[in-house]
Amino acid sequence: MAQRIFNFSAGPAVLPVPVLEEARDNLLSLGSTGIGILEHSHRGKAFIKILEETEARFRELASIPANYKILFLGGGASTQFYQIPMNLLGKADTADYLITGSWAEKASKDAKRFGKVHIAASSQDRNFSYIPDTVTYSDAPAYVHYTSNNTLFGTQFQSDPTPAANVPLICDTSSDMFSRPIDVSKHALIYSGAQKNLGPAGVTVVIIRDDMIAKGAVDIPAMLQYRTHAENDSCYNTPPCFSIYVVGLVLKWIQSQGGLAAMATHNEAKAGKLYDALDKSKLFKPTAAKTSRSRMNVTFVTGNEDLDSKFVTFAKERGMDGLKGHRSVGGMRASIYNAFPPEGVDALVAAMAEFEAANPVA
Ligand code: PMP
Repeated sequence: MAQRIFNFSAGPAVLPVPVLEEARDNLLSLGSTGIGILEHSHRGKAFIKILEETEARFRELASIPANYKILFLGGGASTQFYQIPMNLLGKADTADYLITGSWAEKASKDAKRFGKVHIAASSQDRNFSYIPDTVTYSDAPAYVHYTSNNTLFGTQFQSDPTPAANVPLICDTSSDMFSRPIDVSKHALIYSGAQKNLGPAGVTVVIIRDDMIAKGAVDIPAMLQYRTHAENDSCYNTPPCFSIYVVGLVLKWIQSQGGLAAMATHNEAKAGKLYDALDKSKLFKPTAAKTSRSRMNVTFVTGNEDLDSKFVTFAKERGMDGLKGHRSVGGMRASIYNAFPPEGVDALVAAMAEFEAANPVA
């Protein structure tokens, strides 16, 4: 097998090695069933057991209350951008959106197709490099939507927004789900594409409170109603079975590491080391405001595009991949999700020091 390298990709992203090994071992036969995990019917006992166990692990890890359903859907997190307003935003209603990056912006644009959108906060004025302190909610929003971590711009909410009581709070947690404890009970709906912290691409996890399911529109296609999936335990149609299976393995791995609080500690340590190095460097500069820094996606630049791309090549030669920043920010982005090993951060910090020594700032 080829040597594994440090994969800083923003997603799909690195998965824990024990998860990959267990998935590999079950490809030809899931346990002693004689049928591989990719080949089991979604209606069969073996898969239903996987689905139930995965759901139970979600509930345990985040103490998810009984009045929430956990749905395993297709279509990516981007489908939630329209499925949410399609279900929950009437033509005359207003939904509040906190625009802290391009994913939030895309979500708000889709919402406008269904009802009214009030921009309650935005950090677009400084290229989304910070999380706004002030949020101005509309009078009676149908819901408030925010993106907890901004994958492209490297910012992250340090605490949840606090709309008025009884206003449903909705969060896109695609790039920081289960990287730290999360208070599900404060939210009416949480969604997350799996391909960063939870597993492979192909499944989107939606954690939704029962009253939101009941409130959802009834005059829309069955596949797009949350109630359809809730009533059929995510098996109305064929769910993304393999992705769900791997998510289950990732959750088992998170539990074996000590759960969400332990994840937060590990992630603090990794991100802290990298930001320390950036703060000390004369060459590399972090792009996110200090109080808004993401522990998942660390974005930084040298201020010189040629030097940025030289560094990306330099790091690649030392076994580090996926460091090129998104075009909207440029420079570099180190995505260091739950499964990213601390040794990879050490390797990056060492490469930055070596590169800076070879390219001193005058
Ligand atoms: N929201 C966030 C915060 C993301 O980072 C992404 C993807 N990188 C998306 C939504 C879109 O996810 P998907 O590709 O699963 O539609």
